[in-house]
Amino acid sequence: MKIQTIGVVGAGSMGSGIANLAALNGFQVILRDIEERYLDHALQRIDQFMSKSVERGKMTEDQKQEALGRISTTTNLEEFSAANVVIEAVIEDMDLKKEVFRELDRIVPEDVILATNTSSMSITEIASVTKRPERVAGMHFFNPAQLMRLVEVVRGYQTSDDTVEELKELSRKLSKTPVEVKKDSPGFIVNRIMVPQFIEAIKLLEEGVASAEDIDQAVTLGLNYPMGPFTLQDFAGVDIGYHVMEYFKNEFNNDQYAPPLLLKQLVRSGRLGKKTGAGFYDYEKK
Ligand code: NAD
Repeated sequence: MKIQTIGVVGAGSMGSGIANLAALNGFQVILRDIEERYLDHALQRIDQFMSKSVERGKMTEDQKQEALGRISTTTNLEEFSAANVVIEAVIEDMDLKKEVFRELDRIVPEDVILATNTSSMSITEIASVTKRPERVAGMHFFNPAQLMRLVEVVRGYQTSDDTVEELKELSRKLSKTPVEVKKDSPGFIVNRIMVPQFIEAIKLLEEGVASAEDIDQAVTLGLNYPMGPFTLQDFAGVDIGYHVMEYFKNEFNNDQYAPPLLLKQLVRSGRLGKKTGAGFYDYEKK
């Protein structure tokens, strides 16, 4: 099926970034969230991102207006009956994702791929609530979706070869490089490698071995990463790492992945990084 219209569920950091990316690459986008205010905020962020591209000479004002014109927003999931592929980007909560997929399965034509942008969770479990598990897969973008080049295309237990190939092709049309994750394993590739690094970094901070700033400095200069673990967690929102660690701990039956106490305290106190303008760096100032 030729993909012209992409439905994006959830207009937070990732959903708005994916909608922005899709519109820039010529697709029609239907963006859905539960309340108008989240959609308004998403459109503002998309507008700001595109305005910066105009300022930097990467696109013209006319191109920006055309791209914005390709995005329609809605609080009504029924409008997804017009989508040729759907990418879900609601919060990282299995029950909520299942509820969304159950609804999508009812509304969206049966040959349409339903993809999830989950950072860690089981594609097989999400697909299990649909009547089309062979058309369900992970399509894991990275933050910010407009700029990060990788997409992990993740197979669930029943995902078909065609579905994987079509999502790889779509990733390329969105100017991304896809990698195939052949098995539905928690955290896929990148988060499986990154989360243990976060845990070790937080433990170093807890043990007083070094400051957050120096740990970030060491990782950026010594490993040549563009960002240290605390800057990255504060940017992504520290609650995301927390939920992924809890999920790994339970799925792998391994306490090695348990969120360190300091991270638990940050999450419990509501200092959630990007969402509150606070996080690990804010904690250090206390
Ligand atoms: P976010 O909290 O910024 O946004 C989630 C949005 O989903 C919110 O606007 C919320 O109102 C909306 N929502 C909740 N229930 C909904 C429903 N039933 N229908 C439509 N919208 C609904 O979260 P985020 O950071 O964008 O993460 C979204 C997903 O992407 C998660 O699964 C996360 O693990 C994954 N992810 C996040 C990052 C990151 O760095 N933030 C990177 C890759 C993947």
